[in-house]
Amino acid sequence: MRVKFWGVRGSIPSPGQGTVRYGGNTACVEVNCGDTLIILDAGSGIRLLGNDLLRRFQSPIQAHLLMSHFHWDHIQGFPFFVPAFIPGNKFTIHGCEGMIQPLQNIFEGQMVPDYFPISFQEMPAEKTFNRISEGDFKINDVKISARYLNHPGIALGYRLEHQGKVFCFISDNEPHYYSSGNGAGANLLEEVRSGAMKLGPMDEALIEFIEGANLLVHDSQYSVEEYVAKIGWGHSFFQFPVELGVLGEVQRLLLFHHDPMRNDDMVDRMGADCNALISQKNIALRCQPAAEGMEFEL
Ligand SMILES: [Zn+2]
Ligand SMILES: [Zn+2]
Repeated sequence: MRVKFWGVRGSIPSPGQGTVRYGGNTACVEVNCGDTLIILDAGSGIRLLGNDLLRRFQSPIQAHLLMSHFHWDHIQGFPFFVPAFIPGNKFTIHGCEGMIQPLQNIFEGQMVPDYFPISFQEMPAEKTFNRISEGDFKINDVKISARYLNHPGIALGYRLEHQGKVFCFISDNEPHYYSSGNGAGANLLEEVRSGAMKLGPMDEALIEFIEGANLLVHDSQYSVEEYVAKIGWGHSFFQFPVELGVLGEVQRLLLFHHDPMRNDDMVDRMGADCNALISQKNIALRCQPAAEGMEFEL
């Protein structure tokens, strides 16, 4: 299983001098399992992936898009995904229904004339939809498990298993305990800073879901101080994925969905803070912030 990051930013593309090292593109991760190509989310990073696929493939491209959810930062790159403009290419788009619209309407809706000059139907590649919900299914010989996350609207996290390797993608997710009425006041700051974080039922279930992963990608948009003002917005302070990684006995954690306000030096500091926390726990969890272009062979 080979995993490559094409977009690691949350909320909005954030180009500029301050984000050159980690990258400014929004969520997109490529996973290759043998001949099966899976693309997790279609944020602005999918544009670069599309260009790379055109360089790599001589024959028609077949890929599966596995969508976490449909907030702009996870779908906005699709209209610029050049392989979808080439006849003969085939894409299967897997995702849950939206809160208001069915899956297909969401993709078509962001390309109606008010928003975009070319319609979804005018993209000549073959595009089929597979509506999914929580549960297991297979893409060729890859086992996919989907689980609802704690995020406004509907969002799915994924566990991919292939030939004994496990990759988990939990892009937009908030700690359940602290978003369920326990986040106000000083307790949150004190508990998290002192390493006595509390977990809710959804958090415990998520630890089971990611257990033993070779690689876990998880939302780490905020510091805990920032989170206090953003409870219910659907994102995590970075101590939370460390806790999940430790309790889930994960091998490697990649911090993901960097806040657009966070420049490269701030992302460096977040990585260092996470590693300081891990070293206190005396456990073999490797952790670093995800950056565009990073690649891992599991
Ligand atoms: Zn997002
Ligand atoms: Zn979101």
